[in-house]
Amino acid sequence: MIPDIKRVETLISAEDVQVRCAELGAQISADYEGRDVTFVGILKGSIPFLSDLMRHVTAPLQIDFLECSSYSGGMQSSGAVRLVKDLSHSIEGKDVVIVEDIVDTGHTLRYLLENFLARGPRSVRICALLDKPEGRVDGEEFTIDYVGFTIPNKFVVGFGLDLGGYFRNLPYVGVYSPPESD
Ligand code: 5GP
Repeated sequence: MIPDIKRVETLISAEDVQVRCAELGAQISADYEGRDVTFVGILKGSIPFLSDLMRHVTAPLQIDFLECSSYSGGMQSSGAVRLVKDLSHSIEGKDVVIVEDIVDTGHTLRYLLENFLARGPRSVRICALLDKPEGRVDGEEFTIDYVGFTIPNKFVVGFGLDLGGYFRNLPYVGVYSPPESD
């Protein structure tokens, strides 16, 4: 069923998202100046973020994608992370920035960090549009090197984030309130 857009209340406006993409892009450009950096976008939620962020990066940049899943289309994380699509290129010896839409429980990042470090990159940093620190479980602790916005523990959609595959195309981030019967 197609979810109702009227149940989405704006949390971060499209303008604020764009301003933050420019700020993060400038910060990453300064940190990686003269170095070769690879952005790994985590599909599918990172697509708009990676796309807008990368246009503000002036360091030499390559991109690759990986898809993993922990939500099976609903509003709860299943906990078990599954690799759906692997990288197209080796990251051995590379300076990698993982580009994520949101960090919630931390399960996905824990999995990704272990998976990536085993491939021998030169460095791995994390860039997340949104951080929900109250969502962390099992004592997961991370340094998220670049955070767009820290948000409360609510289910959000838009700017890449979905509900049942919908709402990724919204240019803003909003809180979705399910109907009483859900
Ligand atoms: P984690 O493994 O940290 O719990 O969650 C990571 C993934 O769960 C994100 O990449 C995203 O796909 C999904 N996720 C976590 N919180 C939310 C949320 O509030 N809204 C949506 N749409 N997806 C979320």
